[in-house]
Amino acid sequence: MLRLHDTALGEVVDIEPAQPGRFSMYVCGLTVYDVPHIGHGRAALVYDLLRRYLEWTGVDVHHVSNVTDIDDNIIQRAEREGRSSTEVAEQYERAWWDAVDRLGVLRPHDIPHATEYVERMVELIGQLFERGYAYQAPDGVYFATEALDGYGLLAGQPLESLRAGARVESDESKRSPTDFALWKLSKPGEPWWESPWGKGRPGWHTECVVMSLDLLGDGFDLHAGGLDLKFPHHENERAQAVALGKKFTRHWMHHAFVEVAGEKMSKSLGNFTSLTDLLARTDARAYRLLVLQSHYRSPMEVTVSTVDQAVRGLTGLDTFALRFRDAFDDADAAALASRADAEELARFRQRMDDDLDTPPVTGQLFDLIRRGNAAADTGGGEDAERIAATVATVAGALGLAPYLTGDVPADVVAACARIDEARAQRDFATADAIRAELSAGGWIVENSPTGTRVRQAPTP
Ligand SMILES: [Zn+2]
Repeated sequence: MLRLHDTALGEVVDIEPAQPGRFSMYVCGLTVYDVPHIGHGRAALVYDLLRRYLEWTGVDVHHVSNVTDIDDNIIQRAEREGRSSTEVAEQYERAWWDAVDRLGVLRPHDIPHATEYVERMVELIGQLFERGYAYQAPDGVYFATEALDGYGLLAGQPLESLRAGARVESDESKRSPTDFALWKLSKPGEPWWESPWGKGRPGWHTECVVMSLDLLGDGFDLHAGGLDLKFPHHENERAQAVALGKKFTRHWMHHAFVEVAGEKMSKSLGNFTSLTDLLARTDARAYRLLVLQSHYRSPMEVTVSTVDQAVRGLTGLDTFALRFRDAFDDADAAALASRADAEELARFRQRMDDDLDTPPVTGQLFDLIRRGNAAADTGGGEDAERIAATVATVAGALGLAPYLTGDVPADVVAACARIDEARAQRDFATADAIRAELSAGGWIVENSPTGTRVRQAPTP
């Protein structure tokens, strides 16, 4: 049985879904006002891994992740650039999905957008008023945290100490520093929706409560996100749900940060400045492997040298996959797993079930590759085949797809060469156009040290 660290309980616990054989998860998504940073990539990969692993064990996963397409940062950028908030949000949402696709991350089953749910949020705020948890101030509507018992569960601190540590922005008119905005009245020129409290827009924390409950129902299995969301975002989501008498989520999961070369990100140091930048410069699978090599609750470092090391590891996987093509070409996962080493698979499951302990799993994978090669070198055909089936099974469950050159038709190879040519001439428009054509044809296009490469987009 899968065990995960539940932030609300502060320990690793058995994950028993509300409905056996099913698993519903809500992952807080992105506010789309800039290109995604490297940490966003880790978020996508950690929950992709959880989902793929559960699906591999036969669980039917319902994965929801939202897009925050209305927010102060979007409005500010739109004002600065003389465009509409919608244009800004759409541009950066495209950049996000482009990055997610390149990472080989399965798209969520539902991707609710905040702007599609404003009416429902107004309804929820109305209910909070009725129950005495909301109050109107000159600049909007706030949630009264002092009215709720148990505020501070996720923060792991009682309300008094949170209140003492909280900072009040000068433009806010709330009663207590821990209170948070449910509805913000619009200033002239800002986007707005109608509400009983005046024209405005919903607060960020209200969005996820409404969308998660709407799409997954009360008492869904997991609510997840980065550690930076634990407080105040998730605390405030929970506060609203509890105030309305809901169970909300059964478990909370949070993953740790990404450190980029210790100090600050700088292009001059050769480090990566954004996820988009990282993916333009390296094999996207290297980032997945790096994420697997760190436990999701530990901070991880992404530098040029850790990425290069991961690329070398992938070369070993690719070479192995070419040597044992039959195993890696087998689309029947169950048949493949039945030919794999049962003990090794049991070890894999045991580690994954133990709070997704992926670092030893990657060690196991590369050890198997070594042993498979050695067995084949010394004529141990049967052993080698069994190990190959094990490697293919484990790599598949982790979403680590090897490159099998030769799968790629000649015209696609030629298109990759044209991209490299165009880039060499700094004709990025042509390179982007060819890349877009390939993507539309179902190819994931990636840069590698040896030039542009493609692989088939995974079928969700
Ligand atoms: Zn959220």
